[in-house]
Amino acid sequence: MSTLNKKTVEDIDVRGKKVLVRCDFNVKMEDGVITSDKRIVASLPTIQYLLDQGAKLILCSHLGRPKGEFDPAFSMAPVAKRLSELLGREVILAKDVVGEDAVAKAAALKEGEVLLLENVRFEKGETKNDPELSKKFAALADVYVNDAFGSAHRAHSSTTGVADYLPSAVGYLIQKEIEFIGGALENPKRPLVAILGGAKVSDKIGVINNLIDKCDTVIIGGGMAYTFFKAMGNEVGTSLLDKDNIENAKGMIQKARAKGVNFLLPVDNIIATEYAPDATHMRIYSDSIPDGWMGLDIGPVTAELYAKSIQNAGTVIWNGPMGVSEWENFANGTIAVAKGIAESGAISIIGGGDSAAAIKKLGFADKMSHISTGGGASLEFLEGKELPGIACIDEK
Ligand code: AMP
Repeated sequence: MSTLNKKTVEDIDVRGKKVLVRCDFNVKMEDGVITSDKRIVASLPTIQYLLDQGAKLILCSHLGRPKGEFDPAFSMAPVAKRLSELLGREVILAKDVVGEDAVAKAAALKEGEVLLLENVRFEKGETKNDPELSKKFAALADVYVNDAFGSAHRAHSSTTGVADYLPSAVGYLIQKEIEFIGGALENPKRPLVAILGGAKVSDKIGVINNLIDKCDTVIIGGGMAYTFFKAMGNEVGTSLLDKDNIENAKGMIQKARAKGVNFLLPVDNIIATEYAPDATHMRIYSDSIPDGWMGLDIGPVTAELYAKSIQNAGTVIWNGPMGVSEWENFANGTIAVAKGIAESGAISIIGGGDSAAAIKKLGFADKMSHISTGGGASLEFLEGKELPGIACIDEK
């Protein structure tokens, strides 16, 4: 299956039709108040396009983790209110998900009207991808559009099952993720360089494995580098070590070598006496860390080396910081890589919370081609796994 030939909203005729759109309205809330409406704002292009095309819109999403029944704490009411303000038109809120009220309100919808269903996770069948629930979703509408990339790695009724019963397409948010991440994996502008950092090898072993198959260069930084050091027979002091993955790390190094892929590990490190923002620290030119010291960042020579490898890249994929970037003393490696990407002119794809946060904090966000909207989904995508919420969509 290629992800690149999925139907998008522009490939389907929606005039006068009822379109069920699975959005990601899983907004941050505190005491019933939305603290960030970023995800609602991100959904607007698809919603606005469908309205301009004369669709009757039925929107749905999950919000938090209710336990399969109505719970006012997880109601979509605040989302309906905020969405209505952003769209400048009424958003009708159904009292249930696929019950009597939703059915009646969906049936009465006119062109240009917007109905928001209650939290899809109020239905027990949602997370079980229950076909009976999927059929009820499908019965509300004529067409299904999935635009919830953050939930695309979950096979639930509203993200996947419903597509068995309706013609389907992806919205603009998923379309962009497919174009950038799918494009980088299936048909990249070369050289393709992946930079992987962060804490745990176990979280990213599948990603590293898949990227060695696709990339010209794989660059490793962050806490996970020390498991690779250990795999090469070096000492790592008190650095992060993923003991269960030392053999896997060894296997990755051998695989990269066999495939002729450049596999870069830090050549110098910033080491500290303890895991603290103001810990005593120094630089060492070595891939062995002395007893009682821990590696908390890549060193300046490594940062320069990595930035140089990025300079000539056609495409860069970055996931995970190069050190403890939350702390000023150990943020330089991450900053150098972010700068290197911003100045490279390469197609740049940023996934993962910490790398995206570093990019935004440095003011480089608008220099990146794509900052992924889904942490878990983007990692599974990079791992080469099929995302059920995309796989279920009709091909062109
Ligand atoms: P991840 O969620 O796997 O991308 O990991 C991000 C976390 O890794 C951040 O909170 C960083 O502080 C942490 N991290 C990065 N490098 C190191 C390191 N050398 N030692 C300990 N933690 C690190």
